[in-house]
Amino acid sequence: MSKNTNNSAIPYKIYLQENEMPTHYYNVRADMKDKPAPLVNPGTGNPVTFDDLKPVFCDELIEQELNDTDRYIEIPEEIRDFYKMYRPSPLVRAYCLEEKLQTPAKIYYKFEGNNTSGSHKLNSAIAQAYYAKKEGLKGVTTETGAGQWGTALSMACSCLGLDCKVYMVKVSYEQKPFRREVMRTYGASVTPSPSETTEVGRKILREHPGTTGSLGCAISEAVEAAATSDGYKYVLGSVLNQVLLHQSVIGEEAMTAMKKYGIKPDVIIGCAGGGSNLGGLISPFMGEKLRGEADYRFVAVEPASCPSLTRGRYAYDFCDTGHVCPMAKMYTIGSGYIPAPNHAGGLRYHGMSPIVSELYHQGEIEAVSYTQTEVFEAARDFARVEGILPAPESSHAIKAAIDEALKCKETGEEKTILFGLTGTGYFDLYAYEQFNDGNMTDYVPSDEEIEASLATLPNIEG
Ligand SMILES: *Cc1c(COP(=O)(O)O)cnc(C)c1O
Repeated sequence: MSKNTNNSAIPYKIYLQENEMPTHYYNVRADMKDKPAPLVNPGTGNPVTFDDLKPVFCDELIEQELNDTDRYIEIPEEIRDFYKMYRPSPLVRAYCLEEKLQTPAKIYYKFEGNNTSGSHKLNSAIAQAYYAKKEGLKGVTTETGAGQWGTALSMACSCLGLDCKVYMVKVSYEQKPFRREVMRTYGASVTPSPSETTEVGRKILREHPGTTGSLGCAISEAVEAAATSDGYKYVLGSVLNQVLLHQSVIGEEAMTAMKKYGIKPDVIIGCAGGGSNLGGLISPFMGEKLRGEADYRFVAVEPASCPSLTRGRYAYDFCDTGHVCPMAKMYTIGSGYIPAPNHAGGLRYHGMSPIVSELYHQGEIEAVSYTQTEVFEAARDFARVEGILPAPESSHAIKAAIDEALKCKETGEEKTILFGLTGTGYFDLYAYEQFNDGNMTDYVPSDEEIEASLATLPNIEG
């Protein structure tokens, strides 16, 4: 245990009271001068309207999706009550990590893994299930890759009495039977994707026999299932504006906790798959920066095997393999890109949130990428001193935070670093086994591979 712990005025864990939890979601788009580009209807090439989205999404969620102007959107009391089951989440001062690194930097992390689903995804799952229930739906459909989102949604649906149909990427379905069983225990039905149950699934299976699936395929199937089943709508765990909005509770709580103790972060770091935890964590801080009230550095961390920000292109692209969803302008490495197997399943998406993409394009966010072996080294070092077994996705942020802290050690700067610890790694022990046995491989795509994938981008102005 660090010596600092005894002397410092900053507690090891800062827990807010329930009455200090946010009552409104913060919508960073309201403070962006240049707004994220609108979703585009692939049929017409025009920005999507409420009516375009209505067959697939819930009404109130469409309004949130299209709302670029309201800075605050009230969190309904039922959702706030549900959040109290596992929130507020702690803001932890990583005293032990600081001690181990012998850095003058002060490191904080916001820990979102303290719920059964094991990640921040429950924050949006609850909100989306609530609006679906309010609309009188029977149930929802969705995709899941590594399984965190499906688990979160099945928990939310079981509490609200909604049916939940999950299309799970086949390779995860087979490799992560325990996640599947958690979802089934909460009452969800879980179908390995691609499947024979949808038209798009059958088409993908015909074209790519033996495929182990991808998030893009599973999205197409879940959207089709919603559009063709009465009383069902589709919900998505990341990328969309509404999801970043819900995840703003992470940043709002972090900001309240820090302000209570007079702490101001210099750099804020998050791993980026579809961009929701990063977007949620940084949103209120970004708002202050965009309004000229404070200055912060923001860092997005992605896997070198799926480098949408660091090596992708800012362009309109399909969000899914089957091309049934609206198109988004985002940093992408192409919707046909099948990332090499990487144990951070939650970071294997070809695109990125349009909000995060636009902020990155404006130079407000920086991005770095790491190979998975170096990420697991950081995960191991972190686990050994801080105790928490981190998810591989979260460990990308850990790695970047450690690198920032080591830079401070060289320069002697006492920077304050805040990172998002999005989840726990109990369902990723196969990956830890590979790492511990020295069998982990690092795949980094060549420029040619990325160029070939980008050559298939749709031709949309913007
Ligand atoms: C899904 C997931 C991520 C990545 O998703 P974002 O939308 O980019 O936040 C990161 N960490 C964990 C633990 C996840 O489950």
